Amino acid sequence: MSSKLDYTHDPKARSWVESANSPDTDFPIQNLPYGIFRRRGSNESPRVGVAIGDSIFDVGKYFRSYPIKAQAEAESACNADSLNPLMALSAQHRGDFRKSLHALFFDSSKNEAMDAVARHLIPQSDAELFLPARIGNYTDFYASIFHATNVGSMFRPDNPLLPNYKYVPIGYHGRASSLVVSGTPIRRPNGQTSDGNAPPQFGPSKRLDYELELGMFVSPGNKLGEPIPIGDAGNHIFGVCLVNDWSARDIQAWEYQPLGPFLAKNFATSLSPWVVTMEALTPFRTTAFPRPEGDPAPLPYLLDSADQKTGGLDLHLEVLLQSSKMRDENIAPVRLSESNFSDMYWTLAQMLTHHTSNGCNLLPGDLLASGTVSGKEKSSRGCLLELAWRGQEPLQLPNGETRKFLEDGDEVIFRGYCEKPGFRRIGLGECRGTILPAL
Ligand code: MN
Repeated sequence: MSSKLDYTHDPKARSWVESANSPDTDFPIQNLPYGIFRRRGSNESPRVGVAIGDSIFDVGKYFRSYPIKAQAEAESACNADSLNPLMALSAQHRGDFRKSLHALFFDSSKNEAMDAVARHLIPQSDAELFLPARIGNYTDFYASIFHATNVGSMFRPDNPLLPNYKYVPIGYHGRASSLVVSGTPIRRPNGQTSDGNAPPQFGPSKRLDYELELGMFVSPGNKLGEPIPIGDAGNHIFGVCLVNDWSARDIQAWEYQPLGPFLAKNFATSLSPWVVTMEALTPFRTTAFPRPEGDPAPLPYLLDSADQKTGGLDLHLEVLLQSSKMRDENIAPVRLSESNFSDMYWTLAQMLTHHTSNGCNLLPGDLLASGTVSGKEKSSRGCLLELAWRGQEPLQLPNGETRKFLEDGDEVIFRGYCEKPGFRRIGLGECRGTILPAL
């Protein structure tokens, strides 16, 4: 990884934007994530914004009035209706631009930009958020060995993990057209299912599930035929967001052999709107997952000493659910699970490098999702299939309802944040979706 700790990570730094100093905000001055927004109810063009406290900085508009000569590339990249041009910048440009943003928000009597910046802040509550990028390609990995082992053991109790798992970062090509931003309602899909006895049927999925995942956005990509070496992978990752890879388990079980997931997955995938940059995440990098004794080392093209030392990410993730009945009864969403991204068997760099290792070209704005983030404990299982063990162990909700899979009206909420002594807590915000009845 190229990014280093610097003064933008100083936990003592405060912003003159008061809400950014609140201990529980996801968006202090140490974070500065990017998104695409416009004023709610307006017909303005969607444009680049930076989240700070409970506000959004209209960054492109500001720099059109107050340009900084050294930041011309980044400033012009902010005049877009997607983050793709920013993502296409070099790691050096991205890091320098973060420092300029930090300076604009830094609480100091020497900050002469304050008044002008304040005129370019919009309350987040007044904004509508969009997908952060024009995502040309979406790939979904399967990087949690705990998730793979749990799911495998349901189908193959004696042999849960397939022989390729510890060698290959397993993935499949998802569908980009049905990626939606947090808050978009999710229509329960219809599809073909079979219980193995009666003839197959077509109808609403009865086993609708969520998958708690982390998505990474590709920054500069690679030319077709030119793999990205593992030691350089960090320069090609822009940042991360929360991903809900909604999954229809009954459709999946019938269709997935021999070519893998298809209509069970591609009806919708939700993304949180704010992209937290790799620079902001620097303090929370940790060692790669310690492989248990007896596991093979990654093959040389996936093994890099720096990646082994700092390729992991200490990121807390949680899943909450609120049924429509809970909403009616004013019962707060209940937490279903908590997991940590440091439990993933493969690092972000290994996934990205593996993806390009055959010469496949990635583009700025491509989305690579991690796969379900589950840990060792039952409380850290990142989907209902695991939590309720194929429906055999239904979950109890606080109002007496039970869940094997999602019901119409259920809202699923993901949250993610990084927290570590000596550093400022930063968050990813939320990824939400509510299930609508099938057509
Ligand atoms: Mn998935």
